[in-house]
Amino acid sequence: MDNLLNIPGIEISTGKEDLLCYSFDASNAEAALPMAVAWPRKTDEVARIIKHAYENNLGIISRGAGTGMAGASVPRGRGIVLSFEKMKKILDVDTRNMTVVVEPGVINGRLQKELEYLGFFYPPDPASLNTCTIGGNVATNAGGPRALKYGVTRDYVMGIEAVIPDGAVISTGGKTHKRVVGYDLKGLLVGSEGTLAAITKIRLKMLPLPEDIITLLVLFSDLEASGTAVAKIISSKVIPRTMELLDRSSIEAIENYKPTGLPADVDALLLIELDGYPATIKKEAERVVDICNTLRGEVIVAEDTMARERLWEARRSISPALYHLKPTKINEDIVVPRDKVPAVLVELRKLSESSGIKIISFGHAGDGNIHVNIMVDVNNKEEYRKGRELVKKVFEITLKLGGSISGEHGIGLMKAPYLNMEVKEKELGLMRGIKGVFDPKGIMNPGKIFG
Ligand SMILES: Cc1cc2nc3c(=O)[nH]c(=O)nc-3n(C[C@H](O)[C@H](O)[C@H](O)COP(=O)(O)OP(=O)(O)OC[C@H]3O[C@@H](n4cnc5c(N)ncnc54)[C@H](O)[C@@H]3O)c2cc1C
Repeated sequence: MDNLLNIPGIEISTGKEDLLCYSFDASNAEAALPMAVAWPRKTDEVARIIKHAYENNLGIISRGAGTGMAGASVPRGRGIVLSFEKMKKILDVDTRNMTVVVEPGVINGRLQKELEYLGFFYPPDPASLNTCTIGGNVATNAGGPRALKYGVTRDYVMGIEAVIPDGAVISTGGKTHKRVVGYDLKGLLVGSEGTLAAITKIRLKMLPLPEDIITLLVLFSDLEASGTAVAKIISSKVIPRTMELLDRSSIEAIENYKPTGLPADVDALLLIELDGYPATIKKEAERVVDICNTLRGEVIVAEDTMARERLWEARRSISPALYHLKPTKINEDIVVPRDKVPAVLVELRKLSESSGIKIISFGHAGDGNIHVNIMVDVNNKEEYRKGRELVKKVFEITLKLGGSISGEHGIGLMKAPYLNMEVKEKELGLMRGIKGVFDPKGIMNPGKIFG
């Protein structure tokens, strides 16, 4: 092995077969081999790897499970991938203070299950929860269906231990539920996409497990009515824990891929879930049903846990299902104010019709966070070019409606060219300044966010 990449006591590989496995993520970002992949087992090892990179001007690409949708863990330049898959311990569950400390490589779904077993609840639930890591979730500030009621990852991060580029270990935040001492460094690290520091330990807030859940499937013969229902339910002061929207094309894609019994002859459906005390959510469910009925929505109640799981399985199978329609999906996770959900859905459908390219919309409609999937074939150069051109149009529609170009996936490589459509020069200057303070040599995740 090249001496530059030989860090004594560290598990590190330059084997082509290893490099290939860490050269891509779940986005369409062009794969690129890193110089090496390292698998630290504790903070001290992370610090030694990063110090070595700092002294030798090598990039550091922190990596969780590589489920990111923005190319943020895809290597660029000369660098070492720092894979956190071997730092996967749940270190401490403090039931009196309702906090849990984890290493970054813990899989989200595993944490959920272990806490549920103890009667506790960690709400952030990206649809990739069975694969993605808590470190990746913190670094992307991941959301998920339950963000509507419970917020996103940021709302649960109480403390972070991290290694900054000169190899120093910093600790920010802690066990207290309140803290106002200087600038919020923890807040800066959440959503920083590995560009400021490598996160080595996280303290998270947990909640009591809700007493009961009601799951409703609402079928609409008109896409716009489903968007109107979302806005009306929220303005009636009912906050469901999820309100997931699937349009007609998404439903067709799921049923063609893995039939789950979803009706194919509707224009859109909402998957609505309420949680809390049984008497309260029963009343809330009645209100939701009334609103949906006035919009001619047909409501079906999931009778038991199995029926509920079947519906969620269908929702989570949408991503793989879309690949059966076209080999390439350009996936944008735009977000608009809730009352603009009907308008954005109509605009996206018009864009699809006028361009002749299939655009499939689904997602966390309760937050206004719509996943827009532009379906093309990367091998059909003309189609792929047209698809990529639509991305800018989708962002223009979104920003005109007061929205944002990313609700949860972040900027990474894929959205870097569009960052200045939303963030203006002064604010960009401040962001670059922060990056420079943390990382003066620019070794942390080169090429990400700012291009
Ligand atoms: C099918 C599917 C469904 C998805 N659904 C959702 C969803 O509902 N909501 C949502 O928000 N996202 C969703 N995603 C996107 C993705 O799962 C999230 O962004 C997730 O948080 C990434 O976690 P990861 O462990 O895979 O991180 P990676 O993809 O490996 O990395 C993502 C970013 O985090 C950084 N990073 C990772 N670990 C660390 C660390 N320890 N220290 C510093 N930086 C680090 C990386 O450098 C990179 O910038 C989905 C993805 C897929 C494939």
